Formats: sequence, structure tokens, C-alpha cells
Amino acid sequence: MRLSRYFLPILKENPREAEIVSHRLMLRAGMVRQQAAGSFSWLPLGKRVLDKVCRIIREEQDRAGALEIMMPTIQSAELWRESGRYDAYGPEMLRLRDRHERDMLYGPTNEEMVTDIFRSYVRSYKDLPLNLYHIQWKFRDEVRPRFGVMRSREFLMKDAYSFDLDFEGAKAAYNRMFVSYLRTFTRMGLQAIPMRADTGPIGGDLSHEFIILAETGESQVYCHRDFLSLPVPGADTNFGDDAEIGGIVKAWTTPYAATDEMHEEDVWSGIGENERLSARGIEVGHIFHFGQKYSKPMGASVTGPDGKEHFVSMGSYGIGPSRLIAAIIEAFHDDNGIIWPESVAPFDMALINMKPGDAECDRVCEEFYAQLSAAGKDVLYDDTDQRAGGKFATADLIGLPWQVIVGPRGVAAGEVEIKNRRTGERETMAIAAAAQKLG
Ligand code: ATP
Ligand code: MG
Ligand code: MG
Ligand code: MG
Repeated sequence: MRLSRYFLPILKENPREAEIVSHRLMLRAGMVRQQAAGSFSWLPLGKRVLDKVCRIIREEQDRAGALEIMMPTIQSAELWRESGRYDAYGPEMLRLRDRHERDMLYGPTNEEMVTDIFRSYVRSYKDLPLNLYHIQWKFRDEVRPRFGVMRSREFLMKDAYSFDLDFEGAKAAYNRMFVSYLRTFTRMGLQAIPMRADTGPIGGDLSHEFIILAETGESQVYCHRDFLSLPVPGADTNFGDDAEIGGIVKAWTTPYAATDEMHEEDVWSGIGENERLSARGIEVGHIFHFGQKYSKPMGASVTGPDGKEHFVSMGSYGIGPSRLIAAIIEAFHDDNGIIWPESVAPFDMALINMKPGDAECDRVCEEFYAQLSAAGKDVLYDDTDQRAGGKFATADLIGLPWQVIVGPRGVAAGEVEIKNRRTGERETMAIAAAAQKLG
């Protein structure tokens, strides 16, 4: 992509409304624009990151056996009356009416709708397990939308729903999502800690929030330091092996970790002072087993091996991709801007032409751009006539992992400079060597 043809509305000043660094940097880097309270447009740079994040989520959902669907944002109130949640949900639900005076709502979540899909088609235990997910916009009329996309009213969510014959099956489904989440967040460079969360009237221990530790987090959390060094399951994890998956979950649920609501002071005080980590955290994902909460009132059942009808046992599994992006920035930035982990960076590198119009600089840049693009790299080529200082500031602000700096003096010697955004290290090398290294 040539920067001269791109839409990157960088802000020079710090926007006054932004209270936390991720919000500030997302606005300054031209990733998002606020359209109304808690509502954001994603501009080209932001959209690229959102797509990369969703892609990782998708790959890990698919690996764990979930199937992607797409449900509408606008739902009929009828379904929610069946589950009893239409009245129970409260003011976070945006309620609407169509021209025929039918009650509608903008979905804050999709348990009812996916249960309706299930009950319309699935009849036998032989068709289980089943896990359906989608990545779709949600609306929640939050009392206090704030911190940009961290807590917005309209936000993207990946929500998966599992259906099983019985509790044992549902637990295995829960475990698969648990392990899938560990892999998902790690691939984004994040250390997410699964913490016991409230199960409400459902009871049991199958509810975990995945928390990123960050000073700006809205939750108070407590966990054992062991979490910081637990090995994350690799790509060769066998999701078809319940024992293997169960073993990973066991390892990741044995050390103490709880959110504020679930915190047990007596257990906590039994843990050595140096082993304890009490911190603020950001909830980036939440998995939850709720059994027959929806299948029973909505009549979602299958015939079991015993020939009898069984209401299916369900769970739901959410991740907030838009919030995740803010959490990634909270974790990776410095005074000059964002520092993207390579897996979610909007481009792999910035190619900075220090002197556009100079025949040699132009030639080297064009060749480099063509070669790296052909090698499958996303290159943002700064071919604008902005002065060098401004170009460096922009590249630092938008946080691409590498900068390739092409100036007349280097080019005369057949060299370019490459800079690693994270370490700040600069290295001058032959043009071909740079292309080799970054290609
Ligand atoms: P919170 O406690 O922050 O209000 P929640 O518990 O209400 O979140 P869930 O219903 O568990 O959220 O939704 C699943 C995921 O969706 C959350 O873990 C989070 O990543 C994301 N999410 C929820 N609410 C928002 C929001 N207002 N803005 C952005 N992402 C959100
Ligand atoms: Mg909430
Ligand atoms: Mg929560
Ligand atoms: Mg939650």
C-alpha cells in the first residue's frame, strides 16, 4: 500500500476525551472514529487489525471443531419471551419496533437465536457434539461507555454455542473452548489468565473469564504467579482427545485465579506472599456452561441412545475482538506509539522513502516494495513528501514491527537502514540483505 493513496488520518494532538493510552493511540493513529457515545467507525488501519484478530480467532475456533455461521443483529422479541429474558434483560438491551408494531431488539448476545436454529434441525444425539459460532456486532446500552472500543455500546463479539447430550459432553465442549482460548490469546502475543468467574444460579465451576493484566483494567483480580510461566498448548494439540484437553484444563485451573466476585480471602491468604499477584485486569473472553437454561424453556431436545428425549446441555463462549485490540495496545506501546505484535500488525513493515523524487531512492523503494509484496508481505510504502521527522513519527505511532529507511546516502552505498520498532535497534545493511531478512 502506498501511503500517498491510503487513508490514514493521523492526529497531531492528544484527543482530550481519551482517558487511557489505547483509546488515545487508536484515535491518534487514525484507526477508529467515534460516531456517537460508544459507537465507532473502523478506519482502514483499524479495520486491518480487526481482520487479523478475527482471523486468529476463527482459525482457533475451527481447530477446536466449532463451525462458523452468521446470525442477524436484529432479533425478534418473541424468542426472548420464550426464554424469559425479554423482561429480565433490563436497560442494556436496545429495544425497537418495526412498521408492523412488532417488538424487535438489537442482539446483545445470541443464545435464544442459536437455540432456535438448533431445535429446528437437530433431532438425535448422533448429530452431537455441535458448536456453532459467529463473529457479529452486538449492542449493549452500557450505562457508562468509556475507554473507546474497550467498553463501547456497539462492539464486535465472537460468540460460540455448544450443544451436547449430557453434562459430560458439555464439559468436554467447555474444555475444548478453554484450550482454544489459551491458543488464541497467545497467538496475539497476550498472556491471558483464565479466572474462576461467577456462575450465578447455574452453579458449578464451569465459568472462566480470560483476563489480561493491565493497570487500566476495570476488574480487580487475584492469581498465582505460576500462571505467568505455564506452557501454552501448541498447534499440534489434539482436540479430538478429551483426556489430553482435560489435562491441559486441569493444569490451567489448578493454581489460584479468581475475579473479585469469586475471590476467597481464606484461600488467598494461604498462598505465599511472593506467589500472589493481585492486579487490575481486562476481561477479553468469557466461557460459561449453563446446561438446560435455554434448551428447556425453548424445547431444544434430542433423542438419546436410550430412546428418550433429552434437553441438550449448552454452553456459550465469548471473545470481544474490538476490546482485544485496545487490550493489545495497553500491553504493547511506548511514548512514541503502538508496538504491534507481528501476528496482528496492520502491515508488516513501513518502507520510508527519505527523498521521494530522487531517482535512486525511488528506484530502490519501488524494487523493494515489489519484491517484498511478491513475497507475501504487507508493506506500507511512505512515498509522501512529508519531511523525514514526520515520517518517522508516523511510523512509530502506527507501530509496524519494522521500518526500512531508504535515503540518498545509503542508496549511493547500496545500503538501507532497518529499524525494529519494539527494540529500537537499527542496522544498516545491503539492500539485498534487508530484503532477504524481511522477506
Ligand atoms: P463486562 O464485564 O466487561 O461488562 P461482560 O461480562 O458483560 O463484559 P460477556 O457477556 O461475557 O461480557 O461478553 C463476552 C465478551 O464480549 C467479553 O468478555 C468482552 O471481551 C466483550 N465485551 C462485552 N461487553 C463489551 C463492550 N461493552 N465493549 C466491548 N467489548 C465487550
Ligand atoms: Mg457487561
Ligand atoms: Mg464481565
Ligand atoms: Mg463476561
